Amino acid sequence: MTDLFAGSWRFVLSAPNVTSLPAEGPLEVAFAGRSNVGKSSLINALVGQSGLARTSNTPGRTQSLNFFVPDQNQADEETLPPIVLVDLPGYGFAKAPKNAIEAWTRLIRRYLSGRATLKRVFVLVDARHGLKAGDLDMLTMLDRAAVSYQVVLTKGDKIKPPALTRLTGETEAAIAKRPAAYPQVLATSSNKAIGLDELRRTISDLI
Ligand code: GDP
Repeated sequence: MTDLFAGSWRFVLSAPNVTSLPAEGPLEVAFAGRSNVGKSSLINALVGQSGLARTSNTPGRTQSLNFFVPDQNQADEETLPPIVLVDLPGYGFAKAPKNAIEAWTRLIRRYLSGRATLKRVFVLVDARHGLKAGDLDMLTMLDRAAVSYQVVLTKGDKIKPPALTRLTGETEAAIAKRPAAYPQVLATSSNKAIGLDELRRTISDLI
């Protein structure tokens, strides 16, 4: 297979509510995490395009799922893309109004439920903070939906390498008994390009 991340990627659509979610088609991998965890930065670093996913989400802004696909050459235009990257809206705004949290939960639940083409959700966790209550809620939601997920530590450059190694091990131990968790935790930094190749390989291997 040609290298998924060698060429450019493009934005396909934004789904702000349940009715605008696209029908199931190609395989998908999704990215979830607390707001400000570094999700947009990681997606942009993976594809090597600084402007693909929008950074700096504003609290209270309309939250959408954003879908991205590799650019295909003309001969391939009729065929399905090999994979779709899905940027899930961030969670964990302490001050978010109750109805916004309910809307987020409804949208995410609906997206996760029975989506056979969703191969894995990468749950991003800030390496400075480790797993927080909001992250554990997300993992529980994924366990209940029986959607395979993998924890990815972000901003790994913000702590010392031994601390990052220790946190990776501690996080693996913390999720070991969760039914839908992939056992290996990946440590990354978008700024210092740590772990990006491993994450790209992980995604390519899912196809
Ligand atoms: P999002 O809300 O999860 O999409 O987070 P963003 O990608 O917008 O990043 C939030 C903040 O964290 C921004 O100020 C980024 O510059 C910063 N950030 C993101 N990734 C990294 C990283 O790998 N290392 C460091 N040091 N900062 C990062």
